[in-house]
Order: sequence, then C-alpha cells, then structure tokens
Amino acid sequence: MRGAVMHAPGDVRVEERGEPRIVEPTDAILRMSATCICGSDLWPYRGVDALDGPTPMGHEYAGIVEEVGSEVTTIKPGQFVIGSFFASDNTCEICRAGYQSSCVHRVGIGTEGSQAERLRVPLADGTLVATPGVPADDLVPSLLAASDVLGTGWFGAVAAEAGPGKTVAVVGDGAVGLHGVLAAKQLGAERIIAMSRHASRQQLAREYGATDIVEERGDDGVAAIKELTNGLGAHSVIEAVGTQESMMQAIRATRPGGHVGYVGVTHGDLPGDQLFESATHLHGGPAPVRRFLPELLGLIADRTVDPGRVFDLTLPLEQAAEGYAAMDERRAIKALLTP
Ligand SMILES: [Zn+2]
Repeated sequence: MRGAVMHAPGDVRVEERGEPRIVEPTDAILRMSATCICGSDLWPYRGVDALDGPTPMGHEYAGIVEEVGSEVTTIKPGQFVIGSFFASDNTCEICRAGYQSSCVHRVGIGTEGSQAERLRVPLADGTLVATPGVPADDLVPSLLAASDVLGTGWFGAVAAEAGPGKTVAVVGDGAVGLHGVLAAKQLGAERIIAMSRHASRQQLAREYGATDIVEERGDDGVAAIKELTNGLGAHSVIEAVGTQESMMQAIRATRPGGHVGYVGVTHGDLPGDQLFESATHLHGGPAPVRRFLPELLGLIADRTVDPGRVFDLTLPLEQAAEGYAAMDERRAIKALLTP
C-alpha cells in the first residue's frame, strides 16, 4: 500500500509500505476514508524532534473496518469508525477515570502511520467508536477532526474548566487552538479571547465563538488579556502551541486560582519560581480524546458543530509532501489527505 514516510526534516515521501496485518487478536484493519497532517508532525519536519531513520507518519484517521482479530467483539467489518491517536483498552483503571491516552496498555497510532491507505488499530474494541451508519461524505472531515484536533481542543477547554460565567483565553491559532475556542463556546463560556495575528484564523475563531481577538504575544499579549479582564487575567486559559514561551504566556494570562489547560506538546523547561508565584491550576497532557468521542460524534452528526472547517487544504495522499510544506509555511491551517 501507499503511505507517507519522513526520511529527514523537510523530506516526506509517499512510497510503498508493507500492508498492515492483524498482529494481535484484538487488532482491526481499517481502509482509510480520510487522514491528515497534524501540527505535531511539524516538530520532526522542522528538525525540532529527532528522527530515528525513515518513519511512517500520521496518527489521525477515520475509515471503514476491513478485518478484525479473533478477540474483537464489538467492532465489525463494514463499520465506519473513528479513534484517538493512542489505542487504549478502555477498561483499565486509568481509562475508566477518563484518561485513555495514558491507558496502561496504550499503543501510539503514530508508530503505525495513518497517512496511508490502510491502518492497523490495536485494542480495537476499546479504541474505536463506530458511527450509526456510514456517514454522508460531507461529514467525513469533521469526523476525522474528532480523531485529534477537536478532541484535543475539547480536552484543553475541559482541563481549563471553561464554562458559564468564565472568560477563556486561547493561546495558539492552529487547529487545536481553534477547536479550543469551539469547545469553550459549546461548554457555555461567557467570553472567549482568541490570540491570533492571522486574519483567516481570526475569522474562523470568531465563527467558532471567539468574542475578542488579541494579536499581541508574550508580555504584550499577557498585558492585553489583563486589560480585558479588569487586570486579573482570564479564569481559564487553553495552551495549544507547546513552546516554553506560549506556556508561560498562558500561565501569566491566568488569574490566581484560575485554570490552564495545556494540550500543546510541551517543549522546553518551565521556570519553577514563576509556576509557584502564578497560583494557578495546571492540567493537561496528551488529550484523552476517546473520553469525548461519543459526545463529539453526536454533535457532528446533528451538525451542531462543524470542526471539518479547519481543513483548508485537501490533497490526494500522493501529495502529502505539499501538505507538510503548506502547513509548515502556514499557508494552510490543516491538510486533509484522501487515500
Ligand atoms: Zn486502559
């Protein structure tokens, strides 16, 4: 089958890869309806994360089940399914507490590489959620978005305790940050401040529910948030970038006693003295997307939310390299790939 492989920073090729097969009796094999490129795929693309030789890419997926292992009981061939970027059993204590991305048996989908025609999904019964029937084509991008960026932004908003009466600020205007805005709106936040300096992203943020836009960053960005909140800072801040600078911007924009939900894959050390002084709640990490999937699929099916709008570039899988370049150069928010 065809699949995207990163050979070196800036060097993504679509080439022949081994056909995925059932390895464990709890596996399923999917035929991909759509897949996509994640902001976190840009870390190795930009040389920030080291590559250990040629690496199959991708961890977001939506598709049709082709085959299941002998111990899979609830997932059936022919179903349209979505799952998270970590396979999880959904039965261990950590899963039952709602932290499926930290399941004691978790398997990273990234090691399988979903930017391909087919994908092996471990722990199929725990990982995959089936839609009631095969969805309309125009819903597929939104369902794919639920696989990571919607679920991750949603967790950011939940971790930041976004809700009625709250002012929520969102650091980061990529697909996750924009879905943090969408989630904060759905969770009933009173005021939502999107931090963005890109006109097209500001526009989508407003359509997703942002009430205010702050273009400044760093000290000026923090000052702007404080100015909008009587000098106090936001109740809830969603961090969706993952640099040391963005994380500290989020913490400093949060009022004492407030909550930071951090879902950018954090790179860099944080100064302990500033963390101590901030008196904020910090909660984040790899988003337990599986926890939210049933609810999110319902909101998509009844067209309450339209997270597929973040895909502003659609390419055939064969042109994955162009999708990476477009996202790297910020010509595209997020690229959808059709196998
Ligand atoms: Zn588990």
